[in-house]
Amino acid sequence: MQPRLKHYCENCRKATWVSRKEIILEEISKIAITILVTVAILTILAYTYGNDIIKPEKKEPTWNNLFENQTELIIDGFNEKKALEIFNNSPCTKFSKANTTIFSNRTASDFVDGFTNGWGLYNSGISTIVIFEYAKDYDRTYCHEVGHSVYYKELDEKLRDKWKQYYSDTLRFTTRQSKDNPSEYFAEYFACYFDVDCMAHNDNIQREEWLFIRDIVENE
Ligand SMILES: [Zn+2]
Repeated sequence: MQPRLKHYCENCRKATWVSRKEIILEEISKIAITILVTVAILTILAYTYGNDIIKPEKKEPTWNNLFENQTELIIDGFNEKKALEIFNNSPCTKFSKANTTIFSNRTASDFVDGFTNGWGLYNSGISTIVIFEYAKDYDRTYCHEVGHSVYYKELDEKLRDKWKQYYSDTLRFTTRQSKDNPSEYFAEYFACYFDVDCMAHNDNIQREEWLFIRDIVENE
């Protein structure tokens, strides 16, 4: 680092030089200013765009935060229309022991991703049925969920025990899902009862179970 000329006096022909110390101080202050300006720019950028860049946390999929959003779900035009159509035409509607039926849109299926891969849901605690928009068979799904509501709200302890016995004794399940537990076994039978195709072509329908369902439906 060579000391450079600071001032040259033409009259006295005397040169003064910038000292090394001064040069070093100059360099340090240049670096300091660069750092300060960079930090300031980054701070301004972070304040301006920070919120857009930070990805919102995905809510834990629980029933509570699904229903926090139910206003959003029921205002969806397609779902509301479709829901009413199914609700009005389904032979199962009058047996439903659930207060609300929500046909959820895609937002809702985001919420419940991770705790279901089914087409519908029934929650006995809040007596609510949810049918997902992506369900391939709305009528069948709706009757299945109504079946759950009947199982939990209509059957008394004695009848449920009887049904549990059928479930333990059977070797013939109407569907793969009906193997899961007595409630699924019931919901699948219930849905099949209202489905002409299922009644005509399912070889695993058993008389006792069919009579059990028929008694409930007929006595309603
Ligand atoms: Zn089910």
